[in-house]
Amino acid sequence: MDNQSRHIVIAGAGHAGGSVAAMLRQLGWREAITLIGEEPIPPYQRPPLSKAWLTGQATAESLALKPVQFYSGAAIDLRMSCRVVSINRAEKTVALSDNETLAYDYLILAMGARARRLPLPGTDLAGVLELRSAADADRLKAALNPGSRLAVIGGGYIGLEAAASARALGAAATIIERESRVLARVAGPILSNFFQSFHHARGVAIEVDAQVAGLEGTGGRIVGVRLVDGRLIPCETALVGVGAVANDEIAREAGLSCETTDQGGGIVVDLASRTDDMAIFAIGDCTRRPLPLYARMGRLESVPNALEQAKQAASLICGKSSPLPEVPWFWSDQYDLRLQIAGLPFDAVDIAVRGNLDAAKFALFHLTADGNVQAVEAVNAPTEFMGGRRIIARRKRLTRAVIEDMSVSMQELAA
Ligand code: NAP
Repeated sequence: MDNQSRHIVIAGAGHAGGSVAAMLRQLGWREAITLIGEEPIPPYQRPPLSKAWLTGQATAESLALKPVQFYSGAAIDLRMSCRVVSINRAEKTVALSDNETLAYDYLILAMGARARRLPLPGTDLAGVLELRSAADADRLKAALNPGSRLAVIGGGYIGLEAAASARALGAAATIIERESRVLARVAGPILSNFFQSFHHARGVAIEVDAQVAGLEGTGGRIVGVRLVDGRLIPCETALVGVGAVANDEIAREAGLSCETTDQGGGIVVDLASRTDDMAIFAIGDCTRRPLPLYARMGRLESVPNALEQAKQAASLICGKSSPLPEVPWFWSDQYDLRLQIAGLPFDAVDIAVRGNLDAAKFALFHLTADGNVQAVEAVNAPTEFMGGRRIIARRKRLTRAVIEDMSVSMQELAA
């Protein structure tokens, strides 16, 4: 593509938007770039918000994707506290929340996702929080003190990481999960049971199969979470971590193809992060993308995915060859545990356990009926995680016996 006198507008200045702006410059785009972000601060990393940020081990500077001077130095027009409110595809313009209209040659949608809201009474009480932005994390941090009580609705990554941080700060924590186990959406049952026991041993109360009836308050402030079985979980703060919904509304309104079933939405893209309009790309949490290893579409809510799609879009726009598809991966830090997950366990029927669950150093390999490794969940086992990624990428078949045999090194398994 010729990149003379053109303008790229990036809607959304999260990890995906901030990264694609920088990659476009790295790959040689010399024309105008405007990066539009709703928050009042330059692009920053969200993963530490539920961990190091809460426990005071991260600073605003350490969270920033790039120092603020980077944007002016790279001639990236960073507009903060501003939002794209609509797209006019026929005229190739976007309308901004400050009433300005910008013309684009390429538009990159990187609006991310937002916390799902609970359709229950009491969610507007003071002390009911969500965790998605730095401002959300500051509110939660202020509420976590020795002796304070946190109720976490949802036993996903947000819930478990926030509970671990709460315990580190001396606060009591109760996790309320409607499934029969924590991490039900993202991990297998062995891993769920391991994390449940680990949290339990560190003083976190966990209620599974628990339905929330509503949040109750006095004088406009939360005092507890009422379950449908009648029990009240008393708390001064409730954190709602029940999943994320793609911010795809402006794409939908502009007629771009989007997921229509009730799975959190998402703008449909191809492996170059193109939408069905050749001038419009979409990257990061707001997309529904092909998962070539698994022959299906999916939404990957992760930093590695934001970076992979940023690279796909920037490469195509700058006329570079497309990067090879990556194995999806995720990580989570809780207490002194580092969980790393490679792949997705679609169609897996068996789990091979390599290592020692009691020593909190192990990896779980999810296998299909014909021995394909679909996913590897590694706890404090970085070698297994790295080897697992290679095995998944190469679609190497292994038996449960050989994976579990610790006399066979990971290098041999992955070779
Ligand atoms: P999540 O991983 O989808 O987990 C939410 C959990 O809450 C699910 O198990 C869900 O069960 C449950 N739930 C839903 N409604 C509920 C209700 N009414 N009562 C009790 N439980 C309920 O989402 P999350 O933890 O909120 O995370 C939000 C986003 O942040 C995700 O994109 C996540 O990937 C990202 N994040 C990632 C990391 C990481 O990678 N380390 C860390 C933090 C956040 P159902 O499945 O039945 O709905």
